[in-house]
Amino acid sequence: MINLLDFDLAGLTRYFAEIGEKPFRAKQVLRWMHQMGAGDFGQMSDLAKSLREKLAQQAVIIAPQVRSEHRSTDGTVKWLIDTGTGNAVETVFIPEDDRGTLCVSSQVGCALACTFCSTGRQGFNRNLSVSEIIGQLWVANKALDRTLAPNASPLAEERDAGALREKLVKGERIISNVVMMGMGEPLLNYSNTVSALRLMLDDQSYGLSRRRVTVSTSGIVPAMDRLREDCPVALAVSLHAPNDALRDRLVPINQKYPLKELLAACRRYLERAPRDFITFEYVMLEGVNDSVSHAKQLIALTRDVPCKFNLIPFNPFPDSGYVRSAPEAIRRFRSVLQAAGHVVTTRKTRGDDIDAACGQLAGKVRDKTKRTQRNMEVVE
Ligand code: SAH
Ligand code: SF4
Repeated sequence: MINLLDFDLAGLTRYFAEIGEKPFRAKQVLRWMHQMGAGDFGQMSDLAKSLREKLAQQAVIIAPQVRSEHRSTDGTVKWLIDTGTGNAVETVFIPEDDRGTLCVSSQVGCALACTFCSTGRQGFNRNLSVSEIIGQLWVANKALDRTLAPNASPLAEERDAGALREKLVKGERIISNVVMMGMGEPLLNYSNTVSALRLMLDDQSYGLSRRRVTVSTSGIVPAMDRLREDCPVALAVSLHAPNDALRDRLVPINQKYPLKELLAACRRYLERAPRDFITFEYVMLEGVNDSVSHAKQLIALTRDVPCKFNLIPFNPFPDSGYVRSAPEAIRRFRSVLQAAGHVVTTRKTRGDDIDAACGQLAGKVRDKTKRTQRNMEVVE
């Protein structure tokens, strides 16, 4: 059976052409699925009965299954999404005063084995399908609609929930931003990620602004070039180190795409990007990459790339071997960058009580690779 949640608008239009239906039908069905959350052709009241029956015979609408839902006292919600064979990925909703951000996963595990990342430590199992990526928005929208509906909110007393409920009442979207910062490297699941991004942007489905959809990558240079052409959205690059020797250790894919190439790709990306800067993510690891001299190297390194920095206090996990930089070290690092004229944000840790921090996603992945040795093959 064909799962219609696996199609973006172009794909669904092609499918409808194959079954002898007009392109506008694809738009209607897309709206039903993604805007109304319909999971059943019977609900699609403006389609002819004959078409509904035809679709029911050959297609399905199957969103991923939620295994569990966890709510933090700060309003953060985490869903564990079942991906079969005992594996799961995570989706996290982070409400703030002026936006609601959904942190979305792209792969079950990750082959890139960054040494400070719990997902990377677990190895790689498989790519998520389009329906499993976009399904995370589908599932979150449904769950948030339900929990934030007037008089039905267990979150009512909690921070941010009031503002979000107001939005819902006014018919505004609760999820205003998406960051591909959950499990996996989105640019190594390229075509599924791009189809899912198109659905996030398309007015017939989620209608999000290009500037509010962010792909985070460890720096897969050829895929960054493709994304710039195929579907330019905001880009965050996981830098984490100001020189190749250190980055080779922390982000092993650097051995394949070293800093000079990566920064050149960032400059090329900016020619088409919806924002006029790249966000550089920088995890703060005590005694590893957090000195004043690292900050100065970072300034020199990124001289030619319009950018902002996002400092991420390291989220510890068992046996990681790393320690989060002290708040004072993070402040010092930030002020060196700021003194050079950079905009710097320091990520607040949210949802600590439910283990929801992006990049620190619980749940064990059944590794299908021989890990680090095989990384480079996976990348090819
Ligand atoms: N694979 C992509 C996107 C997912 S990771 C990437 O690497 O960019 C999202 C962000 O969380 C990345 O910047 C990643 O380096 C960071 N991260 C991973 N593990 C972390 C940890 N333990 N503490 C803090 N940030 C972490
Ligand atoms: Fe993969 Fe990103 Fe984790 Fe590196 S930081 S192992 S690329 S998920």
